[in-house]
Amino acid sequence: MKIPCPLCGDRDLREFTIRGHATGMDRPEGETWSDAWNDFLHLRDNAAGATRELWYHSGGCGAWLVVDRDTVTHAISGAQLASEARDAD
Ligand SMILES: [Zn+2]
Repeated sequence: MKIPCPLCGDRDLREFTIRGHATGMDRPEGETWSDAWNDFLHLRDNAAGATRELWYHSGGCGAWLVVDRDTVTHAISGAQLASEARDAD
C-alpha cells in the first residue's frame, strides 16, 4: 500500500506511523484533569468506512499528514499536510 505524501510522492506504508484520528480531537481547555481530558486521551471511535487519520512520515520527510482512508477496504483516497488540513477545517 502506498501513501501519497505531498512532499515525497507515493511512498510505501512502512515509511509512515499512524497516530490516530485527525478529526474530533480538539484539546479540552485548561490543564486540570477532567472528564473531558479523560475522553480526549482514552476514548476513540472505531468507525467502519471513510475516515481521516493523522500519519507521520517517520521514514521520510518527517511531515505530519492527514490521510483519507477507508477502514473497511484500506483504500487511501488522498493525503495533505496536516498544517494545511487544519487551515481547511
Ligand atoms: Zn514525505
